[in-house]
Amino acid sequence: MARYRDAVCRLCRREMTKLFLKGDRCITAKCAIERRAYAPGQHGQRRTKVTEYGIQLREKQKMRRIYGLLERQFRNTFRAAAKAKGVTGDNFIQLLERRLDNAVYRLGLASNRIQGRQIVGHRHIMVNGKIVNLPSYVLKKGDVVEVAPKSKANKHFASMLEKRASITPPHWLSITEGELKGQVIDDPKPEETRLPVREQLIVEFYSK
Ligand code: SF4
Repeated sequence: MARYRDAVCRLCRREMTKLFLKGDRCITAKCAIERRAYAPGQHGQRRTKVTEYGIQLREKQKMRRIYGLLERQFRNTFRAAAKAKGVTGDNFIQLLERRLDNAVYRLGLASNRIQGRQIVGHRHIMVNGKIVNLPSYVLKKGDVVEVAPKSKANKHFASMLEKRASITPPHWLSITEGELKGQVIDDPKPEETRLPVREQLIVEFYSK
């Protein structure tokens, strides 16, 4: 499957905001935004007039990059959100949050969503006792997410288990203490995600 292969910090610099794509490094002075808070490339420091369309496009790109989706997948998720009952912007965030790769990250089993995606793709994660290797798998209330028994001895998960003590999951997920396991206990609340994105502008972008 196609995926973005360039340096991820360029994505934050393009949006001129921290998208927290690299886990721990994002909160250190090594963060590229701390050192070069302007767009990458030869013309990165030029001032340009931003149109209304440009503002909406940037919000859409920010959100897409935070969740690590390619355009087609992102647009299809939006369409599914628009078809569902309720407020499209809220439905959209809920669908993105309930993705398995995101839940693996939120449960402290991965340092960031990119790693969450890899972990799922490498068959380390079970949902309700069965291996699921689809990062786009949408979880529902009651689903139990855990590391597969054969992967529990993996060094990565041993270190994540230590770090998990300092993690507070969002209200819709519960972490099983001392285990590489968690459960979906509610629906995600859009206001709890605290993303640097105005989803209404994304709705406007796709509604044209
Ligand atoms: Fe973005 Fe993190 Fe890279 Fe900083 S370190 S630019 S927040 S991905």
